[in-house]
Amino acid sequence: MRILVIEDELQLARHVTHALTRHGHEAVARHDGAEGLKAALDNPPDLIVLDLNLPTLDGFLVLARLRQAKSSARVLILTARGEVEHRVKGLKAGADDYLAKPFSMEELVARVEALGRRAATPTAADLLEVADLHMDVQHRRVTRAGKPIALSPREFDVLQVLMQEPGRVFSRTELCERVWQRDHEYDTRTVEIFITRLRKKVEAGFAVPIIHTVRSVGYSVRLPE
Ligand code: CA
Repeated sequence: MRILVIEDELQLARHVTHALTRHGHEAVARHDGAEGLKAALDNPPDLIVLDLNLPTLDGFLVLARLRQAKSSARVLILTARGEVEHRVKGLKAGADDYLAKPFSMEELVARVEALGRRAATPTAADLLEVADLHMDVQHRRVTRAGKPIALSPREFDVLQVLMQEPGRVFSRTELCERVWQRDHEYDTRTVEIFITRLRKKVEAGFAVPIIHTVRSVGYSVRLPE
């Protein structure tokens, strides 16, 4: 993968790019928010490792501008340990995953590679359909009533899991496992944030809801009875 690391701690940035390079990725680093954003837009990477606390433009602003620019890069944010509100804010702003500092390089590489893999299920059909909601898995495109919907990579993955089995109720835990493929500290809140983001995009302007909450159980995609 082509990876851009935006991190102002020089030594940490160097360690991260070295670790990713050793694992066969092409990694470059930028050390402030404005330069990082410019690099991301000039030469779009597959994935961005984004520190939140950065000079010139903080990570939240970088993230907001990337999503505004419809960047399709996956974004892994680096948060200070214990700063739950930063993680929540970052995920709401469009990040795909997060990693709390301090972290081991093994953990970083594993998380980056999990994020790079698609939510692959070998039997996945290429075209999924639930009423007027259509998903082209191969081209990563979603439309509702013919209108294109821009989703971040992780939003797409969550919706794909739900659309593969319309009507089936997925628990938050199961969605975490299917989408993030790791059993670390994902909590119900992370899934809730992604469902909220998806609803805004998939249901805004449409009279009929399609993503349903089944109280105390989880979520499902279907038309109302
Ligand atoms: Ca920093």
